[in-house]
Amino acid sequence: AGATASAGRHHGAGSRDLPSVVRPDLVPTLSGDWVDYANLDHAASTPALERVARAVGTATRTYSSVHRGTGWLSRVTSAHYEAARDEVARFVGAREDDVVVFTRGTTDSVNLLARALPRDTTVIVFASEHHATLLPWRHRDTVRLPVPGSTRDAELLLDAALRELPPGTARRPHHALVVLTAASNVTGELWPVERLAAIARRHGARVLLDAAQSAAHRPIDVDALGVDWVAFSGHKVHAPFGTGVLAGRRDWLDAAPPYLAGGGATVQVTERTTRWTTGAARHEAGSPNVLGAVALAAACATIREHRAAIEQHESRLTGRLLDGLRAIDGVSTYSLFGDDTERGPVVTFTVDGLDSHLVAASLSAEHGIGVRAGKFCAHILVDTLLGEGSDEHDTAVRVSAGLATTDEHVDRLLAAVAVLADEGP
Ligand code: PLP
Repeated sequence: AGATASAGRHHGAGSRDLPSVVRPDLVPTLSGDWVDYANLDHAASTPALERVARAVGTATRTYSSVHRGTGWLSRVTSAHYEAARDEVARFVGAREDDVVVFTRGTTDSVNLLARALPRDTTVIVFASEHHATLLPWRHRDTVRLPVPGSTRDAELLLDAALRELPPGTARRPHHALVVLTAASNVTGELWPVERLAAIARRHGARVLLDAAQSAAHRPIDVDALGVDWVAFSGHKVHAPFGTGVLAGRRDWLDAAPPYLAGGGATVQVTERTTRWTTGAARHEAGSPNVLGAVALAAACATIREHRAAIEQHESRLTGRLLDGLRAIDGVSTYSLFGDDTERGPVVTFTVDGLDSHLVAASLSAEHGIGVRAGKFCAHILVDTLLGEGSDEHDTAVRVSAGLATTDEHVDRLLAAVAVLADEGP
């Protein structure tokens, strides 16, 4: 089997075409056939872009210590690391004074911000959030909003919660942080971020945007969206694991204790005192993941350049998936805000009478299709979507397409699910 190939038939050299991803070898099925792996689990992690693999290969051959070395390669490596930061800043539409901190991923980014909250901060978060954005505030004053039934409902819930906050005083201000997701990892639905952020701003609250599920699919512009911080993960934008970003306002981050204590985060250390630096370095103690940053930046640049083609490709596949699944008797698909909500290439479904883990196992073993079954680290949301009568053991199947998905992958999935639904329990 070829180790690499372009995604689908839509590949070409122009910037309007899809960039190539690294593709795996053929995978075996129970029938003894070897088939092209249908990766329908992009929402979990994305395959690397060819350009990312090349960037890592090149950087691996020439890297050296970063920031502290004076040798030629150290200077080159430091320049690559900071150029990667600049590319990420462009990717998120960072404002002049924003800071871009490299982290290990979205979970890490959110935990970093959670540790940087000023005293007297209330965090407002919808119960439908991914656990990465729901749980890091557990030791702070938190208002958990119910899972909204519509976008209007979300706006009303947020507005009402913000009205309830204590006013604070000039000497001791009260702060609020609203946590929002750009796109759901369960339903794929895009949240009305601009409208919710405007409500937050009206009440003087700040906003953290979890763009883990949107960064690969839709542009991010922190300024235009009116959000204060954005977080996302490298492994969901066709870069490797272990890289991520927290980008946004520097004041809370500069005033907070360093996320990690160690070398690189200090200005001066004496027997008695430690003076910490400000900016990104304050929270990046230790030798940084330079290759990860280079890879992440290559992914961001590639996605930026191919944005239109990616959106076109994915919206066609999403329509095909949704229409196909909805047309199968015994299959239910799920949405929070209604079937017509704009969404990324993620669809969650169940098959009447069939355990979702068995559905996923059958798709893998018999058809070479990779999907995910479970509650997708968003237990409250999945329980709400499955509705009354479901219990803690009930789960769903999530299909998520992306750059590496072809029409044939989607059609193979639809045919397989139709057979499963027809055969029943
Ligand atoms: N937020 C959302 C919406 C996600 O889908 C995920 C990952 O599944 C995360 C946050 C956490 O990302 P990571 O596991 O890369 O830290």
